Amino acid sequence: MTQELTRPIDDLYRLHLPKELRKALDWDALDTISFTQEGNTVILNLYEKNSIPKCAVCQKPERAIRVSQKDICSECLDKAVVQIM
Ligand SMILES: [Zn+2]
Repeated sequence: MTQELTRPIDDLYRLHLPKELRKALDWDALDTISFTQEGNTVILNLYEKNSIPKCAVCQKPERAIRVSQKDICSECLDKAVVQIM
């Protein structure tokens, strides 16, 4: 399937990957992507999936603390502590 999506390069030369592509390709934050130039074309490929587990609460791939065999990020852990207090 060929699908053309366009996004601008921002002033810091960053490129936002459209959500449709990220979902279709199962690319997550912190995955490593390779760039291969072939003439005027750049090919993006998944180089390595991140090895950081996703938070069991918010699903963000961040460094987490293991609680009852679940990985919880510090932000969600802080919210839980505030709710308990
Ligand atoms: Zn979280």
